Amino acid sequence: MATPVIITVAITGALPRKKDNPAVPVTPAEQVESTHEAFEAGASLVHVHVRNPDESPGSDPELYGAVQEGVRKHCPGMIVQFSTGGRGRDQHSRGAMLYLKPDMASLATGSVNFPTNIYENPPEFVEGLARTMLEYGIKPEIEVFDLAMLYNAASLVKKGLLKEKPHVQFVLGIPNAMPMRPSIFNFLRAELAEVLPGATWVAAGIGRHQWEVNLLCLEAGGHCRTGLEDNTRFDATRLAVSNAELVTKIVDVCERYDRRPATPTEARQILGLPQAA
Ligand code: MG
Repeated sequence: MATPVIITVAITGALPRKKDNPAVPVTPAEQVESTHEAFEAGASLVHVHVRNPDESPGSDPELYGAVQEGVRKHCPGMIVQFSTGGRGRDQHSRGAMLYLKPDMASLATGSVNFPTNIYENPPEFVEGLARTMLEYGIKPEIEVFDLAMLYNAASLVKKGLLKEKPHVQFVLGIPNAMPMRPSIFNFLRAELAEVLPGATWVAAGIGRHQWEVNLLCLEAGGHCRTGLEDNTRFDATRLAVSNAELVTKIVDVCERYDRRPATPTEARQILGLPQAA
């Protein structure tokens, strides 16, 4: 029996990419439509950033609410994950929409250099976000941009700020953070199994590393993340025309790795989330 793979689609992101690829959805209506296409193609989890009307990175809870409402309506059971990432917003606004109770929210458990800035996540701030997510019953996705973040996540579990068996994402290929190297990918997985036994995991490859990381994840039994947030190209020859196209690219090779796209029901079971009402 093929093993289900949860395909995450990161539809938009925070970087000003619309000029790079007009297929990046930025208004809530575009985001819902793009998510729906990706859902139909096989994605069961959507990672959401919002944009202001001028397309700069947004933090308005109303925008998050509009996207969540549209996804819940048009993509039954799909897991909604809000980004609490830092690009373009101050720390206070990063968790200001969590009262909307998405199924999941991202949580980076440490600081790291990005290409042109510091992605700043001081311990007190990380613990505050973790506590808010606990209060609202939101499952965090632990974002591991650098090695220490993995061990910090384990210590948050010890402190009772994270539940056991968290869902962890390794992010590979951001300049100044962890490079994409198979040796690092394998090391992270081995360490995860030791320090957070029973955790589920996914890896994201940024830019040209996206596809390579997708294949490594399929092969190693992990989950997959794709989407225009991380990479705007279909391959070396052309831009992606949609988020759905990137999802389909994964779906099309699943069988080769004895995998198949998880249904939303299966994805929720795998992640220990309640089934959608
Ligand atoms: Mg993100």
